[in-house]
Amino acid sequence: MSSVAPTHLSCDELDRLKAIVGDKGWIEDPDLLSPYLEEQRGLCHGTTAIMLRPATTKEVSDVVSLCAESAIAIVPQGGNTGLVGGAVPHKEHREILLNLSRMNKISHVDSRNDTITVEAGCLLKTVQEAAENMGRLFPLSMGSEGSCEIGGNIATNAGGISVLRYGMMRDLVLGLEVVLADGRILSELKGLRKDNSGYDLRQIFIGSEGTLGIITAAVLKLFPPQNNRITALLGIASPQAAIALFEKSRDVLGDPISAFEYIPRIALDLVTKHIAGARDPFETPYPGYVLMELATTLPLPGLKADLELHLSTAIEEGMAENALIAESNTQAEALWQLREAIPEAQKCEGGSIKHDISVPVSALARFIEQASAMVTKEIPNVRVVAFGHFGDGNVHFNLTQPEGADKAAFLALWPRMNSLVHDIACAEGGSISAEHGIGRLKRDELVRCADPLKLELIGRIKRALDPQNIMNPGKIIDI
Ligand code: FAD
Ligand code: ZN
Repeated sequence: MSSVAPTHLSCDELDRLKAIVGDKGWIEDPDLLSPYLEEQRGLCHGTTAIMLRPATTKEVSDVVSLCAESAIAIVPQGGNTGLVGGAVPHKEHREILLNLSRMNKISHVDSRNDTITVEAGCLLKTVQEAAENMGRLFPLSMGSEGSCEIGGNIATNAGGISVLRYGMMRDLVLGLEVVLADGRILSELKGLRKDNSGYDLRQIFIGSEGTLGIITAAVLKLFPPQNNRITALLGIASPQAAIALFEKSRDVLGDPISAFEYIPRIALDLVTKHIAGARDPFETPYPGYVLMELATTLPLPGLKADLELHLSTAIEEGMAENALIAESNTQAEALWQLREAIPEAQKCEGGSIKHDISVPVSALARFIEQASAMVTKEIPNVRVVAFGHFGDGNVHFNLTQPEGADKAAFLALWPRMNSLVHDIACAEGGSISAEHGIGRLKRDELVRCADPLKLELIGRIKRALDPQNIMNPGKIIDI
């Protein structure tokens, strides 16, 4: 496969690209470009001659056609909140950035079909609010929702805090419009819940991280609103106890459980230390906490009583040490803030080495125990901050540098820690990327950990849809 030559764009190429998107549609000034060229956590930086900001699908199509003719590679970008460097262009390649943020219209709402059709550059928060305004729910939710965009959510198959009830982005997309690598437009903006007319091509593009085509619009599923929410925080003795509590809660409370998040004590310590207004809701410290949410559309008068009974039984049976139920929305938000602020609080303590692991829920506690022992053997006094979406078997197994350690020396251990932790996850039947994707930061680990046949098939799909390798080359897989 030919890869793109590491040279710059000519003046003629730049002029032709600018002419397609018009005066408002491009940025060349290095100072203005720089925020778009940096990964969220500063883990990689890129360079590009130009960032294009098309306003329509036609403009995207024309840009891609020109790039295909001239063998110019394209890095699509939404809100640039991704955590694996997928939206950052390579320094050495002839790559342009294609930022979709100007394509931010809500094109159509079909309230009787419970669907909303949006352009790729719509902020996730805008879509949530539009759904709410029509008395509906768009359930995808995550810490970055004020900055990430629907196109990015689809390209990464984003997860977040509602997966337990509603699934990942893959489960929320009914139709897609995609500009293919030769510039043609595949328009499947159908709001169908049932469609078995051949291969489901939409699923190939969801989670493809910009390597197969540019997502320009989507039809998304809406749901009845969850008007009644109950949020509880429980003090827990260990991850094992949290899993036992999860299993029991599913048996006793069933469908209304919409979130089940784990917070280790060290994370709460960091949040209360660094985040203004955050405070420990209990008088006594516990080794860990579970943030549980129940949500229903119709009032379920008995639900709170059922939850109270369940929590007191859980305490009697040793699955929980203590529990409180939020009495107001403000209290519920304060509890969620303890969970959402963990990454920000971690930043204040120096370097963090991160992992986004999933394993079967039944293996989660064992994974944490083994991985914690392994990393502590390698780096004495490393601070393991293993938190996240326990109900989905997804843990952000993050390591904060030992107190007083040299940040750069600690971060130099990133690849070694990754391989140790990923090996344990794989041995437990898990994944090295539960929800963040592969991008460029996990590409080599994918090659190391994945079944060679899976890699071969990924390569074949990539070659079939992008024979010139111009769509986000070097991300997910290097061909
Ligand atoms: P970008 O970062 O711009 O791009 C991500 C990838 O998608 C890149 O490979 C890019 O090339 C490609 N891409 C972007 N737009 C398009 C398009 N239109 N067509 C084709 N390819 C495209 N993620 C979770 O899953 N769950 C979480 O709970 C979560 N929490 C987060 C919390 C914080 C504070 C932060 C900073 C990030 C979090 N993330 C989480 C990661 C991130 O927000 C998601 O991956 C999000 O879906 C990325 O959207 P984006 O618009 O920022 O995409
Ligand atoms: Zn997460």
